[in-house]
Amino acid sequence: MSEKVKCPYCGNEIYNDAEQCEFCKEYFAEPEIKNIKLTSLGQFIVFSCLLPGVYAYLWSLLNYKSIINIASSRDRAKLKTMLILALPFCIVAGIINPIVLVITAKIFLLGISYRILRIIEKYSLIKYNSAVTHNEYGWFIFDVLYIVYFLGTYPERVHTPGMRMCFNINNWIKYSLIFLLGIGIAVMLTYYLSFIDIG
Ligand SMILES: [Zn+2]
Repeated sequence: MSEKVKCPYCGNEIYNDAEQCEFCKEYFAEPEIKNIKLTSLGQFIVFSCLLPGVYAYLWSLLNYKSIINIASSRDRAKLKTMLILALPFCIVAGIINPIVLVITAKIFLLGISYRILRIIEKYSLIKYNSAVTHNEYGWFIFDVLYIVYFLGTYPERVHTPGMRMCFNINNWIKYSLIFLLGIGIAVMLTYYLSFIDIG
């Protein structure tokens, strides 16, 4: 049984394990998804430029445990199936044609990231009573990268239910520069690798 304590904001009686005051709606701790690894957006962009698609997949695998921790059993099964099927499908697609591989990988990354976003949204509704939603365009274009961004702005999203965009011009400039740096490194590496091949 949880004990009752006074809310530090409004003084009403609340349970001592509550995340949010049911009277004044104040949160007692910053909302978060626990134990998510590799949450730096800049790092994600650089590694994604070096390992296109592969890094997004690895990120999902590394965070699989923390994500299924907050998921329903149905969502767990769906996410697991997609993560397992992605590998054989991408290998076969890669044998057929590089373009088929890119399309197959994108479809799987979209499926995986959609499931993760839905898990976070359902969890937020139960845990924080907040209708957190994602931006469909952001998800469709950036798939797993969008999740990293989504998690970075998660407290604001919980505090402002229904918010689909989260835009900060300073962050935008910072991440654009990191993105360009990542592309620069990738282009340089490709150049050196092709040089070694010829030599
Ligand atoms: Zn209160």
